[in-house]
Amino acid sequence: MKLRVVVSGAGFGGLELSTILSEALGDRLDLTLIDKSDSFAFGFSKLDVMFGHEKPEGVRLAYRHFQKPGVRFRQEAITGIDPKAKRVKTEKGIYEADVLVIALGADYDFKATPGLIEGENEFYTFPGAKQLGEIIPQFSKGKAVIGISATPYKCPPAPYEAAFLLDDYLTKRGVRGACEISVVTPFAIPIPPSPETSTAILAAFSERNMTFVPKKAVKAIDAARRLVIMDDNSALACDLYLGVPKLRVPDVVIESGLTEGGWIVPDPKNLKTKFPGVYAVGDVTRIGPPKAGLFAEGMARVAALSILADFRNGTQPPHYDGAGTCYIEFGGGQVARVDVNFLSGPTPTGRYFAPSAELFAEKKLFGSTRRARWFGLK
Ligand SMILES: Cc1cc2nc3c(=O)[nH]c(=O)nc-3n(C[C@H](O)[C@H](O)[C@H](O)COP(=O)(O)OP(=O)(O)OC[C@H]3O[C@@H](n4cnc5c(N)ncnc54)[C@H](O)[C@@H]3O)c2cc1C
Repeated sequence: MKLRVVVSGAGFGGLELSTILSEALGDRLDLTLIDKSDSFAFGFSKLDVMFGHEKPEGVRLAYRHFQKPGVRFRQEAITGIDPKAKRVKTEKGIYEADVLVIALGADYDFKATPGLIEGENEFYTFPGAKQLGEIIPQFSKGKAVIGISATPYKCPPAPYEAAFLLDDYLTKRGVRGACEISVVTPFAIPIPPSPETSTAILAAFSERNMTFVPKKAVKAIDAARRLVIMDDNSALACDLYLGVPKLRVPDVVIESGLTEGGWIVPDPKNLKTKFPGVYAVGDVTRIGPPKAGLFAEGMARVAALSILADFRNGTQPPHYDGAGTCYIEFGGGQVARVDVNFLSGPTPTGRYFAPSAELFAEKKLFGSTRRARWFGLK
């Protein structure tokens, strides 16, 4: 008997889950992996594009390279999900399964922040990163603001990485003395589960003369008056804005009835939703861990093992522990690391490893191992 699975979304979660099921079942698997895009890209490559280290087309990994026994990829937009019937509708057809996995990630809610414009003053999409990559080389004096519109946002360290890389870039161009760099965040400290990481980031901010603006969310950007307006109605002068947008689940997920309070909340132990045979992993969920690729992968691993256990009438895997790693670019070829654990204890914990060239190499390895594992590429 074959296991029929439909995986919606081929990001970190969907790719890892499909890979594990393929490795375990081979031809006993009948899995359809659906994504509207033709290719995958690591989130962090948007920073590479923004600072001119890469071109958007150079960082895309085409799904045609995702070749696994028992798996077929379909490039189609999902237009409906029926979790009771375990059925997914796309613009081209209908897919039914024994097991449905929702791994559709989070969409950006640009409308929530007036003045934040997709593809213009944000670095969370490739068009935005590319556009800022054309503006930053012309920025030689004034105030740069990296602003977070709301929490949760993708990759908690990314705004600080953008700040460090901007500092590096402006220093190399010899214009840093005429520029100011600030980061605005709703959080009290940069990385709340790890005070040690936060202290290191704030020490680097003070060494490099950068400003940390805590406990404020960006409410609007007034381009005409060159102001960033905060949720307490205070304002910051701004000549260059690098925005981090608010998140929401894709409309098709809201319409499916799978969400509670705006997100899918599966059982954190095994990622099962309240609908039998329906799992949810990654950024589309809200169970504690942050919105980052390695956490989506961790959820995918436990969900895959749980699917296999049910298929084989075996024992369920150990509970998902909410553990994962985030790398943090400090600029100058130095990367730090924080290992965070969200679900094992009463409160989240984090262990910090200081910036080094070795961790820079480890981050590169993180990318290349996934390229090889998922796409068979060097
Ligand atoms: C600037 C930036 C830097 C980042 N840096 C890091 C980092 O260093 N480390 C890290 O771990 N994470 C990082 N992240 C976060 C990381 O990219 C995400 O958390 C991760 O991709 C989430 O994985 P996922 O599988 O849940 O969703 P995604 O990877 O977002 O995948 C969801 C997929 O669903 C597809 N989809 C959505 N709607 C539909 C539909 N209706 N029909 C068909 N397909 C659909 C999308 O095309 C997408 O491919 C970064 C993100 C950004 C923006």
